[in-house]
Amino acid sequence: RAKEQGGGRMEIYAADMHARVVGRLELQAQLRQALADGDFTLEYQPVVDLESSQVTAVEALVRWRRGGESVMPEEFIGPAEESGLIVPLGEWILREACEKVAVWRAADWDIELSVNLSVKQILSPRFVETVAGALEDSGLPARVLTLEVDEEVLLEDPGEAVERLSALRRLGVRLAIDDFGMGYASLAHLRELRVDTIKIDPSFIRDLGTDGTVTLLTHTIIRLGQDLGVQVVAEGIERPEQLEKLRSMGCGHGQGFLVARPMAAEGMEALVGGAGLPL
Ligand code: C2E
Ligand code: MG
Ligand code: MG
Ligand code: MG
Repeated sequence: RAKEQGGGRMEIYAADMHARVVGRLELQAQLRQALADGDFTLEYQPVVDLESSQVTAVEALVRWRRGGESVMPEEFIGPAEESGLIVPLGEWILREACEKVAVWRAADWDIELSVNLSVKQILSPRFVETVAGALEDSGLPARVLTLEVDEEVLLEDPGEAVERLSALRRLGVRLAIDDFGMGYASLAHLRELRVDTIKIDPSFIRDLGTDGTVTLLTHTIIRLGQDLGVQVVAEGIERPEQLEKLRSMGCGHGQGFLVARPMAAEGMEALVGGAGLPL
């Protein structure tokens, strides 16, 4: 019998894999249902000008309200990409965020918007029209919208991705490279994509001031941004020393729990209504 012949292990693997596939499919079905039921929501994290401490933009971050809990994107963006749901979900995110920020701007709040994109979205048919539609319907000016992509956008189908991103730029929207510094070919990508913003990966900020190499690299990225005329945003600022170090290095913008955590739209409205930031 299989077990006595050492096949037992294989059966366990097969059962485990089966359970995982079923779990994945169930999750994907739940995600589809959640989109239909309106169970996704957006939080907004302020991006500040480090010199003036003014909030200049917000980054939209998606959450899934499942029962009483708020599920973080790490748990569902991957599965949403695999199932293709990221395309309609991404469109919902874009439209929701554009509408919200357009309302804030109409209330005389001079603020910009950043939205994360997944590669699958960018390469999907009619993506450029989707962005154009979200802008048109919300009335948000294209120049106020930054689309964040990570370097992996150039791995799957670099020619097509560059083509799409150029078409997006022609709409007038801006592009940011997210998690900059993690990919091995970051500098080459900068030239190819002609981005407006680089967002320094939090792993650099974490060791800022304590690790000499990381500190030097961070300083180099900031100077590179200055030389190229590209906006630099430091991500993951959690401690006052990090903020001070970044300021002393001339880093233009920052984002992180020290400045403000991601919050629901109402939280942002309270902030602008006078609560202010602790800087
Ligand atoms: P990201 O685009 O790099 O977003 C920044 C992440 O860092 C957010 O996590 C934010 O909550 C977190 N963060 C901000 N400041 C700090 C800090 O000081 N310390 C720490 N430890 N974390 C900080 P979140 O919301 O869980 O999102 C994780 C990732 O999921 C995002 O990374 C992005 O790649 C993806 N994601 C989020 N929302 C969307 C979306 O609407 N569409 C797509 N395609 N991806 C999204
Ligand atoms: Mg981002
Ligand atoms: Mg990202
Ligand atoms: Mg990032």
